[in-house]
Order: sequence, then C-alpha cells, then structure tokens
Amino acid sequence: MILGPGDDAAVLRPPDGCDLVVSTDSLVEDVHFRFSTQSARLVGRRAMVANLSDLAAMGARPLGCVAALCAPGSLELRLARGLVQGLLEEAGAHACPLVGGNLASSRQTSVTITVFGSVARGRDLRRHRVRAGDRVFVTGTLGGQALAVSRAETEGRPIRLLPTPRLRAGQALARLSGVGGCIDVSDGLVADLSHLLEGSDLGLQLEADSVPTPAGFAAACRKRGLDPLRLALAGGEDYEIAFTLRPQAARRHGVQALGKRLGVPVSEVGRVVGSGGIQGVPEHLGWTHF
Ligand SMILES: [Mg+2]
Repeated sequence: MILGPGDDAAVLRPPDGCDLVVSTDSLVEDVHFRFSTQSARLVGRRAMVANLSDLAAMGARPLGCVAALCAPGSLELRLARGLVQGLLEEAGAHACPLVGGNLASSRQTSVTITVFGSVARGRDLRRHRVRAGDRVFVTGTLGGQALAVSRAETEGRPIRLLPTPRLRAGQALARLSGVGGCIDVSDGLVADLSHLLEGSDLGLQLEADSVPTPAGFAAACRKRGLDPLRLALAGGEDYEIAFTLRPQAARRHGVQALGKRLGVPVSEVGRVVGSGGIQGVPEHLGWTHF
C-alpha cells in the first residue's frame, strides 16, 4: 500500500512483474444473511471471506480492499460496529488492509467489498482452461456451511462456522505447472464445476463418493433428515477451491504431496471427459444432466 484511507482515493502498487487482480461482492440482508442467525461480526467476516476467496481462486495475493456499508438509520449501532469489526478482523488475518470505504443510508443493510490482489504476470488461474483427461480436485471439505445454515434455520442455533479463504492454496497453485481450470466453490460443487465447463463441449465425470465432507457430517445430516450428499454437492459458501490438473501433473504430484504444497488437504473428485456435462451425480438428487 502506498496511500491508505484519508485522501480522496487510495494508491496501491502491485509488486514489479505482477498483474493487478480485482473482484467485488455484496452481501445483502435477507438475501445473503440474517442478523437472527449469525452475529454481525460473523456477517462482516463472511463478506470479506467471499471476496478473498475470489482472489484465492485466481492465485492472487491480497494488496488491499475497499468497503461500502449501506444501512438504514434504524440499524442498531452495535450491529453496524460488529459488521465493520468483522470485516476488519478478517482483512487483517489475511494481510488485506482496508484502504478506503464509504457509508450510506439505505432501506436495507448491505456490505459491498472490492478486493485488489496481485499475481505474477501471466500466472493467474482461470476457469476455462480445462481439457479432456484433466483430474479434478477440491481442497478441504464441503457441505459444512449448508449444514450450519440448516441448523440455524430449523434449530435456532446461531451459525458459528466461518469458511477459510484458500489464499495460500491458490497462490501455491499459481506457481505449479500443469494446472488446468480453477474456481472457488461458492455456489455448490456441481454448480461451480459446471462453470469450469462453460463455453466448451467437455464433460466431467464426478466421483460423488470421493467428495470430502467434515468429520461426523453424514451422521449429523441423517439425524436431521438431511441428505449428506445433497448438502456436499449442492450446498454453497464453503469457499474451497476446485481445480483440475493435467494427468501427468496429477501423477507427478500425488494427492498427498499436493495437499502439503497447498497447505490444505486435497481430494480427487473426478476427471474431465470429452462431452456430456456433469456426470455421476446420483439421480435421486434430481440432476440427471447438469
Ligand atoms: Mg468465485
């Protein structure tokens, strides 16, 4: 950072030999969150995670961010403070300084963040670089957020679980050779994998049983009458990274060494095939062809 908050605008300078990476995302009350199911602080953190996760999926390192908070005059001061505190905490945890912001009055509460990051020139990760034969991997576990949301809505337990933006993993992937497509899992695994295939005729053979879930997840789902596979494949907001590797690179690295390199466990969940959209999603989930 060259110039932070306090002037008309901030000034950022990406390191020599780097490209600038920019992303923005909004969280809107009653659309993306409710103050009744989680603390304002967690909402603020989550807003920052969503943005940092997009930088992670591009292989970028954070440079800084700006935030705009819109809220009605009736919003309790402690909620407004909590939101700001949460986003500052999360930004601080990932070395992404808030370099500017804006407050405005509106009918609904919303937080909009824009993040800036840098990546070595030409090394940015992209969605549409998948090829037939690529192996498909995902970091961490999936479904945990969907389970937490369901518990908050049906049992009145506040959501406490906060996803981790996989910045280190994204940056490590950007240095690796043989990477194909890359995306962060914000909408749900099947939906996000289908984004990797957009604009191509390729398909993806998913190994649904290999999709990683948190410890005790299946039992916790069944106890509540939820389908664990549905939550793992379609639940969003886990903010893990899904990516493909060329088959030689997948063999060379191996799943375990790859996890070490990325700083987070990695699971192989399928492979890219010549055609046919997303295959291997159990029929009872209602997608025969995604
Ligand atoms: Mg994304």
